Amino acid sequence: MEIQAKEKINTYQVAQGRVRRAVEQLELPDDVYEWLKSPDCLVECGIPVEMDNGKIRVFTGYRAQHNNVLGPYKGGIRFHPDVDADETKALSIWMTFKCAVARVPFGGGKGAIQVNPRELSLKELERLSRQYVQALAPVLGPEKDIPAPDVNTNAQIMAWMTDEYCKIRQHNDFGVFTGKPLDMGGCVGRETATARGTFYAVREAARVKNLDLEKCTAAVQGYGNVGYYAALFLHQAGCRIVAVNDTSGGAYNPAGLDPVALKEHKNETGSVTGFPGSEKLTTAELYAMDCDIIVPAALENQITPEVARTVQARIIGEGANGPTTPEGDKVLNEKGVLTVPDILANSGGVIVSYFEWVQNNYNYYWPEAQIEDRLQRKMMEAFSHIYNYHCDCSEGTTMREAAFMYALKRLAEAMKVRGWWG
Ligand code: NAD
Repeated sequence: MEIQAKEKINTYQVAQGRVRRAVEQLELPDDVYEWLKSPDCLVECGIPVEMDNGKIRVFTGYRAQHNNVLGPYKGGIRFHPDVDADETKALSIWMTFKCAVARVPFGGGKGAIQVNPRELSLKELERLSRQYVQALAPVLGPEKDIPAPDVNTNAQIMAWMTDEYCKIRQHNDFGVFTGKPLDMGGCVGRETATARGTFYAVREAARVKNLDLEKCTAAVQGYGNVGYYAALFLHQAGCRIVAVNDTSGGAYNPAGLDPVALKEHKNETGSVTGFPGSEKLTTAELYAMDCDIIVPAALENQITPEVARTVQARIIGEGANGPTTPEGDKVLNEKGVLTVPDILANSGGVIVSYFEWVQNNYNYYWPEAQIEDRLQRKMMEAFSHIYNYHCDCSEGTTMREAAFMYALKRLAEAMKVRGWWG
């Protein structure tokens, strides 16, 4: 059974449903939901790009700015052929709540371009990235809206985009993007930050579940930035990585997979499949794996109720955004699986983006040990705030509901003192 749920589920409605539920659980007035149910602003633009054959192709780009009550809009840019306005809006809502959970002074935003970057040459990709900024420069800025990498974007793309923005503004304004290369105001540890944060969240979840990570086994869906480093950090902590997959297939070895060698194999062959000593596996088999921990690190809506019913793991650490559907959540909760929700488990990326932005503003750069230490402290604080809040909530409240309520309290209070409602 391959998972084909994405077409049937509207991610934007899922995100709105999570906000609605938190508003109801906190018994806040409808005005609060009205403010938060949709982005403050959605820009949709045609991005004309001269292709290598001299012809013009126009791509569709988006930037959703959800809410900025706690600070400038903040959120990654995704390059994907299936991305659309609704997905971008959903991801921007999650960013607002994520920043509130992590207690970083940002609001929520998200950007996207409908494109399969693998079909473009490097030069075409550069022109596309620069043209996106040409279209969006008026709504971006270090105090306004600060994008970062997401699926299929990386430090090089952030470098082109930052450079284009600086040319338009006619001065260096490195704080406008985060996730940049080190030589242009990037932050040490940003590349690994999301997965490092996911690792800390999973480690804390294992602690509250009385599981010894050194005796645990784990499966990881997606082997890009988040998936690879999450597998690596878990492996370094003594956890056995038994299964991994990506769009090209999967690799399973009950004796354990070496994440670094597997990454080298993927770089050489383009796929995790065929890794020496491993067997193939499907996404359905990965989620049904007899293991302690699963880290979804691919895309949304993977854990449907059907998939959730097959889960044997005791902890799910959501590296990806929105991997579990609301119905999937219910099933996991009934089974006693501890799901560390995306807005907590993958907040390491935006936490280190915040450090990068602070350093850009000060033009003073911190050593790696300081970044790692501050990230660890912030992740552990966020986990304990949400876990304790969850324990104080009525029975049956999930960690996700607790995280949404915790964030909503902060957002609603900030909106109230600013006079937006009440
Ligand atoms: P990436 O492009 O580096 O990697 C994505 C991986 O997922 C690839 O290995 C791809 O092959 C795989 N994949 C895609 N669809 C799949 C499917 N249906 N089944 C199995 N594998 C599949 O992206 P990333 O930056 O690692 O992002 C992964 C997830 O983490 C996304 O949900 C993203 O929004 C979220 N996230 C990323 C960051 C960040 O800093 N990069 C921060 C927070 C959250």
